[in-house]
Order: sequence, then C-alpha cells, then structure tokens
Amino acid sequence: MVTFKNCTTCGSTGQLRKVVNTMLGQMVSTTTCSTCNGAGQLLDKRPPGVDNSGLVSKEDMITVKIPAGVRRGNATLHVGQRK
Ligand SMILES: [Zn+2]
Repeated sequence: MVTFKNCTTCGSTGQLRKVVNTMLGQMVSTTTCSTCNGAGQLLDKRPPGVDNSGLVSKEDMITVKIPAGVRRGNATLHVGQRK
C-alpha cells in the first residue's frame, strides 16, 4: 500500500508561481513543481517493487504450454488464468 502526502513545496497544486518584475510590470510565470513533478503529492511510503506513481511493477513469467500435436494457429491459449 502506497501512501501519499501533500507536496509542501507547491502547496499540493503541482505548480509553482514565480513573480518576476519586468519593465512592463509584474509577470507571473507558472512552472511545474520540480519536487512533485506537477503531481501535487509526494510518495510518503513506498514499498519495494512499487514505482513512483504507486503502481506495482511486477513481471510474471508465464509459461505457455502448447500441447503436442496442436498445429500453429490452431491453439487456444489461456494466459493469466490460475488455478
Ligand atoms: Zn509540488
């Protein structure tokens, strides 16, 4: 289980506002928060095997057994089913 916390750098808005004084007045430029990459949230706890977006990246090796005698193109594969 991944828990998130609000990004304090941008106030969980995901964007940073920067006021720049120019000759024409104040210009507000908005940039993506580099701390949370615009997500507004940061990972609080991340279990091993979970990437930064909170998704579990897991690769399962699937062994597909094709019965002998089945011609190519004629086999029905049941992938992802477990008994
Ligand atoms: Zn942020």
